[in-house]
Amino acid sequence: MECREKKQDEKFCHECGEIIRAKAEICPKCGCRQHDVRPIRTNGLDSVFSGAPEKSRTTAAALALLLGGFGAHKFYLGKPLHGILYAVFVLTFIPAFFGLVEGIHYITMSDDEFSSRLSNGTLNQFFGKK
Ligand SMILES: [Zn+2]
Repeated sequence: MECREKKQDEKFCHECGEIIRAKAEICPKCGCRQHDVRPIRTNGLDSVFSGAPEKSRTTAAALALLLGGFGAHKFYLGKPLHGILYAVFVLTFIPAFFGLVEGIHYITMSDDEFSSRLSNGTLNQFFGKK
C-alpha cells in the first residue's frame, strides 16, 4: 500500500481509502460512487444550525400568507430590515398585500427557483422596493 500524501485536488475514497481525484465521482480502484460530490439538501432547523442559506419554501410561503403583514417571512428569509419595514407599515395593509403576493409566488415557484432567487436577492429587491 502506498503512503503518499493527499494533494489539494485529491481525496480519499469512501470505500477503499485510495487517494483519488477530488472531482472523481467513481473510484477508479474499487468502482464505488463517492457520496460527497453533491451538497446535501437541508431545510428548516438544519440550515439554521449549519448556517446554510437554504430555506424551506413552504415555511416561507405560510409565513408570508399568515403573517406577511408583519414581515414574518422576511425575518425568516434573513432580511430583517425588510421585515421591520413591513411591521412599521402594517396598519396601512400594504405589507399584507405584498405578503399575500409573495406567499403565492413562493408556492408557485419551484424549489430551485426559490433558493436561487432568494440567494441572489432579486426577488427581495423586486418586492422590497417601496
Ligand atoms: Zn475506492
